[in-house]
Amino acid sequence: MLEGSINSLETLNSRRCYCGFNALNLMAWTDLNVGRRFHKCPRPKVNSCGYWEWQDKQQLPLRAVAVILELIGKLDNMKVERNKLKSIVDGMERVKGMI
Ligand SMILES: [Zn+2]
Repeated sequence: MLEGSINSLETLNSRRCYCGFNALNLMAWTDLNVGRRFHKCPRPKVNSCGYWEWQDKQQLPLRAVAVILELIGKLDNMKVERNKLKSIVDGMERVKGMI
């Protein structure tokens, strides 16, 4: 009985594509829809049935999108900075190895 309840709950939360597979549940990263979840056919693009649907019909508030994009920008800048520091440390370790 409990198992049946869990299965029906899973059925409610999952969607099937036109091929009959459980659709993937992914997060969009495009500027306008960042953080928005969607369902799509799990097959590769060439074999896909083309099923694709937003999970939430509603977009995130514009302020939330702006904050997320700003944080992504800061994260990208920090990755660049980290790589610079990493190459400096690598250079220092090479020099240290020569001494
Ligand atoms: Zn499909």
